[in-house]
Amino acid sequence: MGQRLRFAPSPTGLLHVGNARTALVNWLVARHTGGSLVLRIEDTDVERSDEENERAILADLAWLGIEWDEGPDIGGPYGPYRQSERLDRYTEVADRLVASGWAYPCFQTAEQVESLRQQARQGGGSFRFRGEHRDVSADEARALIEQGGAALRFKVPDTDVRFVDDLRGETGLVAGEIGDFVVTRADGSPTYNFAVVIDDHDMRIDRVVRGEDHLPNTPRQILLYEALEWQPPAFTHLPLILSPDRSRLSKRQGATSVAEIREGGVLPEALCNFLALLGWSPPDENEVLRPAELEAVYDVSKISAANSVFDLTKLEWLNGQHMALLSPGDLLDRVTPFLVEAGIELPGPGLGREREWFAAAAVLAGGGARRLTELAARLRELICPSWGGLFEANAEVRDDEEARAVVGAFAESSRAGELDNEEAYLDAVSRVREATGAAGRRLFHPLRLAISGRDSGPELKQLIPLLEVGARLALEPAVPGVAERIDRALGLRRS
Ligand code: GLU
Repeated sequence: MGQRLRFAPSPTGLLHVGNARTALVNWLVARHTGGSLVLRIEDTDVERSDEENERAILADLAWLGIEWDEGPDIGGPYGPYRQSERLDRYTEVADRLVASGWAYPCFQTAEQVESLRQQARQGGGSFRFRGEHRDVSADEARALIEQGGAALRFKVPDTDVRFVDDLRGETGLVAGEIGDFVVTRADGSPTYNFAVVIDDHDMRIDRVVRGEDHLPNTPRQILLYEALEWQPPAFTHLPLILSPDRSRLSKRQGATSVAEIREGGVLPEALCNFLALLGWSPPDENEVLRPAELEAVYDVSKISAANSVFDLTKLEWLNGQHMALLSPGDLLDRVTPFLVEAGIELPGPGLGREREWFAAAAVLAGGGARRLTELAARLRELICPSWGGLFEANAEVRDDEEARAVVGAFAESSRAGELDNEEAYLDAVSRVREATGAAGRRLFHPLRLAISGRDSGPELKQLIPLLEVGARLALEPAVPGVAERIDRALGLRRS
C-alpha cells in the first residue's frame, strides 16, 4: 500500500548531508511503496529561518532528483505546507487541549524553569517540572490565559510511554522521566513537538522517517497523539552519520553541505547512491546503483541501527563509477559548468560535430577521474595547454638527440595529416621506430611529454588522433594539434 511520508526541514541553514539522507530515505520509501512524499517547511523559529535558506533547500533537493508530491511550492490537498502559515490551526488544537484538561497556562519563563532545574541538579535530585496551575479547571485556565503572557504546557500523565521504532523495536520512557512541556509559548507560537504532531496528523502521514537526534522527542509526540485521540504514524529513526574519527560530523572534515559537495564536482546520483549505502547494503554485490535502481531495491527496514561513517573516499569512488556510466554527451553536459568556471566556454548544443568532439575529449581525459572538477581541470589542460609549462617540461627532450628525432618525425606526420585515426597513427609509430631506432619507452615517453607535458595520461593511440581531428575541426576554443604542440615543446615556435 502506498505510504505517505514527509521531509520536514527547518530553513535555518543549508541542506547538509544528514538531512539530505533523511530526505532521500523518505523519497525512496514513498516511491518504493507507490506512495507520496510531502515537503513541509518547519519555519516557526522566525529568528533563525529565512526564505533564502528555504529556496536553497528546495533547489538542493531538486538537484538531488528528490521530487515531492505536495509542498509549499506546488500545494496539495493538506496544505498549507509552511508552518508559519498554519498558526491558526495550532491555536485551535491548543484550545482543544485546554478544554479537555490536557494543557494548562504557565507563567514561568524558560529561564525560571531552567534555574529550578539547576537547583534540583545541585541538590542531587531528579527534576520534573510541573506548573503551579496544572490542576485548574478548564474555565479557570481560560481566565488565566485571558490575562496574557502565559505559555501552555502539556500535562504529562504518570504513565510509561512506549512506541515501536522500526529499527530498534519497542522503546520509550518510564513514567516520571519527563516534565510538563510547553506546547505554545507566551507569544502563542507552537513548539516543535506540538506543531509536528498536528501537521503529521493533518497531512495524513503514515510513517515518520527522521534522524536519531529526534528520538527523545518521540515520546512527547506520542503523548500528544494519545491526548488528542489521534493514531500516531510508524516511526523510523535513522542512525547518525559520523566523521571517520567517530566524532559528530562537522565542517572540520570538509564539505558537509549538499551545495559544497555539488561544487566539489560530485554528481547527484553518486551522492544519492552514497547516502543510500549508509547503514544499508544492496541485496547483491553491486553497490553502484542509479536512483531508479535504488528505488527498486532499497529497504528501510534493513538499515543497521549502528551509526555510519562519512567516508569521503567511498563517495569519490562512487562518483568516478557514476561518471563512467554517463554517455559522452551527458558527461560533457555535467562538466560544462566546471569548465565555464575554469574559463572555457564550449559551443552550444546546436553545433553537433564540435560538441561531439568535446564529448569524446571529456571521456578520454576523464578516464579514472573521481570528480567533475578534476575532469574539468584535465580537459582544460588538454584543450588549452600552457605553452610555458609545455616548454619547461620538455628540457629532457630538447637535450636528447634521439628524442628530438622521434618527436620531430611525429610533427612531420602530423603536418602531412597522417595521424588522424588509430590505424594511421600505428603506421606512423612503425615508421618512426624504423627511422630512428627508438622503441618502447624511448619512443613513447618523448612523444607523450612533447604533446602533453606529462609522463602519463590517456592512451596515445586514442589521444593523438583526437587532437589531430580537433585541430582540423577549427574548434572554438581552438585545440592545437600534434605538430604545434611538438614545435612549442622544442621551442621552435614561441609567439
Ligand atoms: N524540522 C525538523 C528538523 O529539521 C524535522 C523534524 C521531524 O522530522 O520531525 O530537524
